[in-house]
Amino acid sequence: MARIGIAGAGVLGRLLAWQLSRAGHSVTVFDPAAGPEAPATGSLSEHAAFAAGFTAAGMLSPIAELDNAGPDIARLGWRSLALWREVADTLCAEGCSAPLFEQHGSLMLAHGSDLGAARRVLARLETAPSLAAELPAPQPLDREALAALEPALAPGLHAWLLPGEAQVMSRDMLHALAVQAPNVHWCWGERVERVEPGVLHLMGEGPVRFDLAIDVRGVGAKPDLPLRGVRGEVIWLHAPGVPLQRPVRLLHPRHRVYIVPRPGDLFVVGASEVESEDRSPVSLRSAVELMAAAQSVIPSLAEARIVHMEANLRPALPDNEPHTHAEPGLLRINGLFRHGWLLAPALVQDALAALANMEKALAHA
Ligand SMILES: Cc1cc2nc3c(=O)[nH]c(=O)nc-3n(C[C@H](O)[C@H](O)[C@H](O)COP(=O)(O)OP(=O)(O)OC[C@H]3O[C@@H](n4cnc5c(N)ncnc54)[C@H](O)[C@@H]3O)c2cc1C
Repeated sequence: MARIGIAGAGVLGRLLAWQLSRAGHSVTVFDPAAGPEAPATGSLSEHAAFAAGFTAAGMLSPIAELDNAGPDIARLGWRSLALWREVADTLCAEGCSAPLFEQHGSLMLAHGSDLGAARRVLARLETAPSLAAELPAPQPLDREALAALEPALAPGLHAWLLPGEAQVMSRDMLHALAVQAPNVHWCWGERVERVEPGVLHLMGEGPVRFDLAIDVRGVGAKPDLPLRGVRGEVIWLHAPGVPLQRPVRLLHPRHRVYIVPRPGDLFVVGASEVESEDRSPVSLRSAVELMAAAQSVIPSLAEARIVHMEANLRPALPDNEPHTHAEPGLLRINGLFRHGWLLAPALVQDALAALANMEKALAHA
């Protein structure tokens, strides 16, 4: 059994803590948040930092994200789908009653006037021939097939089904990973200033020693890593009676807008992508553009009620790629950018395997 200290209780921190404690290790997690719950947000004065994982729509879209990322991200993401399913099944079997994972594929949509832009995106999704044997290709749907799958969508949309894509209920998953890992020692309200091999330096309290120190502070790992935050905004709608089974994404020359259905007649509409570290509330322009796009895709959202708006920062490195660093006594994972939910389980699996191999090599040295 190793003594493991984790800085950060976001997507990576909670998943690592849950897995490592189940593997029999003694795990302590430090995070400045007040507790495991999603924070309440809203007023202009309340824009303290909290995990980007709470704000995320939780889309697991390895095929669609080929529009923004390379084949390695798609491969890791495709592997993560089965891993998230296992995590969700275990949490549900052990008492979580909220649905945590849904897999019905997703839809890419385009209005007729944007067909040219849509075709360019589809071409990017198909430019990775090495992936052809590993990931399914987008399947075009005709009007009848689309109406049968998702009757709430506006007629006349061009549509492609991305088979196998899924979603995690991000807020409920983060909560379940924390409260269903009772052997973990959660230290809320504690900020880690610096992480070194085997040491977490707590703000105002000094160093705490562990066998393994893990740094998964997201944007909070600045300046130890050359990170930047990329602002993203989402809007939560309540629309009883509007049927939507799967996430949909509108292809548009200017925006990447998606609508993700959530239990309780809720819909997450997102997300802007702004090169800014401003955490203040959602701007009028983003709200208008996201909601107009959403209503153009699902006209019956017109009577939806706006229940919540939220902005947060995606942790990104200069190349927008995830970065894992493992050395004896230290693991850092960061830079998950717009793919944190998509990539976390595969990255965690690879990082823990790398650490185990390193330990074996040291033991034989
Ligand atoms: C609007 C939006 C939509 C998104 N949609 C998706 C999506 O659909 N699919 C997807 O895959 N990804 C999505 N993402 C990206 C995803 O949320 C991130 O990539 C992911 O949250 C990164 O995980 P993380 O654990 O590295 O960081 P985070 O989830 O941000 O967690 C970092 C944690 O570290 C803590 N911390 C910070 N500083 C310190 C410190 N000094 N000491 C200790 N702890 C500290 C924070 O409080 C936080 O709890 C979205 C992000 C945004 C903003």
